[in-house]
Amino acid sequence: MPLPQNRKPDPLNIGLMGGTFDPIHIGHLVTAEEARQQFSLDYVIFIPAGLPPHKEKEEVSPAEHRCLMTTLAVMSNPSFIVSRVEVDKQEPSYTIDTIRHFSTCGAPGANLFFITGADAILEILTWKDYPELLQLCTFIAVSRPEYPLEKLGEATDLSPELISKIHLLEIPALAISSTFIRKRVALGKTIKYLTPEPVEQYIKKHGLYKK
Ligand code: NAP
Repeated sequence: MPLPQNRKPDPLNIGLMGGTFDPIHIGHLVTAEEARQQFSLDYVIFIPAGLPPHKEKEEVSPAEHRCLMTTLAVMSNPSFIVSRVEVDKQEPSYTIDTIRHFSTCGAPGANLFFITGADAILEILTWKDYPELLQLCTFIAVSRPEYPLEKLGEATDLSPELISKIHLLEIPALAISSTFIRKRVALGKTIKYLTPEPVEQYIKKHGLYKK
């Protein structure tokens, strides 16, 4: 996926927004926009997970549905892009492989920021090749309001140098979650305004999340 030409003399700042996005919702979009502004990101690339390595036994909607919904959700924002790099893989997608992809051919020379939920980052010590991961990019751990952010420091055995590569970002709109949306659909409740309208229509058309 070629990025638009870099017209700046400095390296690009690229946000890589990793998640299952089952489905994508307003909280994710507000997060990406807030991160774009706070960290002066030139682009935010949404990367729906293909086969999430930590969720093999859980029921996750087919990657193609999650990827299409993500594309519909970001369509109107020229700074947002969707990458199929994980979706097109046949094997479980580890974040380190994705970051290596962007640092070598996807966006060589760019400063990379991996954006995802603080809960997911709490488990970072279990992630494949995590020390290299923290060398290759800066992490933005996003949380819901009143999330005990100190948990991150306590729960990880990371050195102060590595912990300095994790930034915390509180996003009130993350009170919405994908689980909440799936439950509402299963109960026949409205999800209007919780996700962009084209995503809402897609869920309806394909009968996703019905019991
Ligand atoms: P998850 O466990 O489903 O989500 C944990 C929490 O973070 C949930 O509350 C979730 O809310 C939120 N969240 C997830 N992605 C977010 C995002 N981009 N922005 C804001 N909140 C977000 O986590 P996941 O989605 O499966 O995994 C997150 C990322 O970490 C993925 O890119 C995954 O590939 C990566 N990961 C990598 C490894 C590895 O390399 N070994 C292991 C675990 C995770 P919602 O449900 O509302 O999104």
